[in-house]
Amino acid sequence: MNRDRNVKIVATLGPASSDYEMIRALHEAGADVFRLNMSHGSHEEIEEKHRIIRQIEKDLDSPIAILADLQGPKLRLGVFANEAEELEWGDTFRLDLDDTPGDKTRVQLPHPEIFAALEPGAHLLVNDGKIRLRVVDCSRDHANCTVVTGGTISNRKGVNVPDVVLPLAALSDKDKRDLEFVCALGVDWLALSFVQRAKDVWDARELVNGRAAILSKIEKPAAVDSFDEILEVSDGIMVARGDLGVELPVQNVPPIQKRLVRKCRAAAKPVIVATQMLESMIESPMPTRAEVSDVSNAIYEGSDAIMLSAESAAGQYPVEAVSTMHAVAVEVESDDTYRQIIESSRKVDRSSIADGIVSASREIAETTDIKAICCFTSSGTTAALVARERPRVPIIALTSKRSTARRLALTWGTSCVMTGQLERFKQAVVNAARAARKIGLAGEGDQIVVTAGVPFNIPGTTNILRVAPCDERLIYSTDPE
Ligand code: PGA
Ligand code: MN
Repeated sequence: MNRDRNVKIVATLGPASSDYEMIRALHEAGADVFRLNMSHGSHEEIEEKHRIIRQIEKDLDSPIAILADLQGPKLRLGVFANEAEELEWGDTFRLDLDDTPGDKTRVQLPHPEIFAALEPGAHLLVNDGKIRLRVVDCSRDHANCTVVTGGTISNRKGVNVPDVVLPLAALSDKDKRDLEFVCALGVDWLALSFVQRAKDVWDARELVNGRAAILSKIEKPAAVDSFDEILEVSDGIMVARGDLGVELPVQNVPPIQKRLVRKCRAAAKPVIVATQMLESMIESPMPTRAEVSDVSNAIYEGSDAIMLSAESAAGQYPVEAVSTMHAVAVEVESDDTYRQIIESSRKVDRSSIADGIVSASREIAETTDIKAICCFTSSGTTAALVARERPRVPIIALTSKRSTARRLALTWGTSCVMTGQLERFKQAVVNAARAARKIGLAGEGDQIVVTAGVPFNIPGTTNILRVAPCDERLIYSTDPE
């Protein structure tokens, strides 16, 4: 679907967006990718949403990406005898393995591997960082802590341990079951939560076995430190600002976001900026000015996609939240400053024939009157390389693989059209011209740029660049076979 904008919108589905009408309304308002959060909802509910999205995709003849987000190793406290207790600054508080209900002096933390990794001086953050504990001394079965920031502590609250690389598998048993379930169902992207090192991504990749592309969520300081290695083995990245802002001081998040977005673009891998983008729209039909500014910044930085979480999953105004993102994107992308930023940050190491061809296709498209860059892509790599150039003209990716068309729904500026298996280049040019006309980006008298690899259907062979008319009679009379 041609959206008149380049940045993509990811909408999380939940109780506020679970039926056909609502999900279709979200897609029509601008959601390109739907996120299914495996932390919530049964497999039956996930399966139902999946079925609805595929139905909408069929009804509207427009590829949609489904992103399944695994919960990951989320740590939780045990329970309290009185359900909750007040902790004050300076109190001593003990965490241990004993499942006796807790009180004002102690509670269970049922994760022996955490105690093995803790050291005096490390911090434990409870309930989204609202309570901070500092470890004074610890052993294999307990940690005595000082309360650094007090507050109400209660049953099964989440715990973050930012200072320590935890010896935890990135995939819990629940994650492994969920992974198998969604891969068998057929999702396009699988997001891994709390990735700490490149090996976590490898382990998941082995289980996924090519059934989905892998997106690493950067929400731990360890992942920020090992970002280059993680990016190398991932297909995409999410700047998961919610947990990242708990594990690190909040003021560290914006510079990390900027750095990660640039690195992802340089690597030609899609990056999503996520969490609290339009948070106030959970309850209000109007965003705050600061939120609009935050969404704009992510777009000015050149992110591939921006994401809605509770705004679309559990809020009162899911469609309005998507429309707001769309409207902000259209405005930002028509601003001259946006073009200046995008162009001055085009730092690309070009080393392959495909790199040269896509860069030439952008130059040609921008110096003459070209309506679209049409690229034939099997794995999606060539389309990602074109997107990395961030051209002024729209990108049309043509592929015979449905999985590629769907995955590219996350990639900046790319509209996807399915083609049959192609044998000849002339046939490819005709298909590209038809696609450009079908999407409404070009008419009979217009010209397009076509890139392709011959022989067809072998990934990594992009080796042809053709400036072609959209008029099929002209293609037939002028083009070589
Ligand atoms: P979550 O991830 O919504 O699954 O926690 C995103 C984030 O932490 O920002
Ligand atoms: Mn998170």
